[in-house]
Amino acid sequence: MFSYGKEGFSINEGISLQDWLDIDENINNGANSTQMTIQKKMTLRNEKIEYTVRKHRQAKRLKLAISCDGNCTVTLPWRMGFVSADDFIRKNAEWVLEKMKAMKKIGRNSLFARHDKVEYLKLKETAREMVTSRLEKYAEFYGFQYNGVAIRNQKTRWGSCSSKGNLNFNYKILLLPQRHADYIIVHELCHLKEFNHGKRFWNLVAQTIPEYERIVKQLKVL
Ligand SMILES: [Zn+2]
Repeated sequence: MFSYGKEGFSINEGISLQDWLDIDENINNGANSTQMTIQKKMTLRNEKIEYTVRKHRQAKRLKLAISCDGNCTVTLPWRMGFVSADDFIRKNAEWVLEKMKAMKKIGRNSLFARHDKVEYLKLKETAREMVTSRLEKYAEFYGFQYNGVAIRNQKTRWGSCSSKGNLNFNYKILLLPQRHADYIIVHELCHLKEFNHGKRFWNLVAQTIPEYERIVKQLKVL
């Protein structure tokens, strides 16, 4: 999870009657808990948004965060009224709407997003199309023959090559910049000829991806 945060100054505000009603109706923790959370809705510049307000005993200041799935959460110090969250969102309306939109867009297409089954299957098919068309091009250049291609949801690998000439790729290859995806495709393809990572292997890779060292470094930090 990654999020954009915005911190404001705490406003020392009394608890209004509406807040007490909110707490009464929506409190989902016991009286001795360290936090309480409520879900709220509002119309912000003609857009309906849902958000989460969390009061936390340890929170020192009001904090607004939009998470990678586009959810908006306001965290309040314990003594602040729930309406402070509404005020804070209204005051930062432009920022909230812009970030919610951006995060929803990034979220679905992010390497770090959790994709549900439907999203995964869609991405997997698109990845297969992309990988197949790039493979054809590079296989023709190198004059290599591969057996089959599989797209998988691998946790730790971008790709692999079996001794039978089957190439496997992580579906998230689709979410990388094209040049990085090409490097991974070329890497596995070159294993058809060179099974190790020796000098001859890297020379083969360099024929189509001369800047492979930079890409390898960038992929390592992901
Ligand atoms: Zn390798």
